[in-house]
Amino acid sequence: MTGLKTKGRSGCVLCRELVKWRYSNPLKKSVYDEFRQFLPIDHPFRRELAHYFNGVHETSPPPPRATAKDWLNTWNAARGPELPTTSRARLPPPGMNRLSIFHELPYWSDLLVPHLLDPMHIFKNVSKSLLSHLLGEKDNVAARLDLQLSNTKQDLWVQDQATSLESSLAPYKLENKDQVKEFFCRIKKIKTPTGFGAHLDNAFTEKDTYKGLKSHDFYNILRFHIHVAIQGMFDSNFSKSICRLSRLIRWLSKKCIHKEEIESMKQESFVVMALLQMQMSTSFFDGQVHLLVHLFEDISLLGPVPY
Ligand SMILES: [Zn+2]
Repeated sequence: MTGLKTKGRSGCVLCRELVKWRYSNPLKKSVYDEFRQFLPIDHPFRRELAHYFNGVHETSPPPPRATAKDWLNTWNAARGPELPTTSRARLPPPGMNRLSIFHELPYWSDLLVPHLLDPMHIFKNVSKSLLSHLLGEKDNVAARLDLQLSNTKQDLWVQDQATSLESSLAPYKLENKDQVKEFFCRIKKIKTPTGFGAHLDNAFTEKDTYKGLKSHDFYNILRFHIHVAIQGMFDSNFSKSICRLSRLIRWLSKKCIHKEEIESMKQESFVVMALLQMQMSTSFFDGQVHLLVHLFEDISLLGPVPY
């Protein structure tokens, strides 16, 4: 990603400025909470489902995948062969800080994947964010205000800041401390084969938070533990969405992948992300969650992820 921005309007180096982005003032961060543009143009989720989405019929086509050549062309179009003299013209084009020195390599523009996404890093961040939302750490007035600003999930909007969080329970949050305790207990009881990963007994203590988890632990929790531990604790549609998300992560981690499965799993990832968009808070959808949908394209070009 050298020389490219990873936040803001062009925060996705593959979608560039065509990514659906907005800056959330209450959350004070960039939010990428629109996945319907990746779905087929006649998919029912693209319609105005006012409660779940923002009441807008999504008609944008999926953004084409940007290549190194596209970035080079963008730079050349903005800067030209001569270095401009005025300070305004010296500003880099949108999405870029500078032109990477790698562009001097003769083969760089021909690479299909010049920027390799790190799946383990993405899985860790998605898992961490999902855990925080399930435990209610992210359910605050700012998150509810952002729902109001994005015009979705009216039943969670802030009416009275002092009592609104208690009066309308977020469907992605465990109801009370007893449920959190039960959730932790279930995670600790899950038996895994020798060498699968670290023991989680010490990480999930009696208190309502966790500690000392490594990247690989978050990854294991996302692909195996969460969808088992939440059964019966949430609305069945939400549980099913998390199950489908875990299945996607397990599929991405496979050492042997059949070529003909890739397209169907990619389409499945778009549907799962749209379902999560309907059920989760907008605060969940940061840049890392957005990158999940691009891992399938990487696999189609590079093969299975080596761990
Ligand atoms: Zn993207």
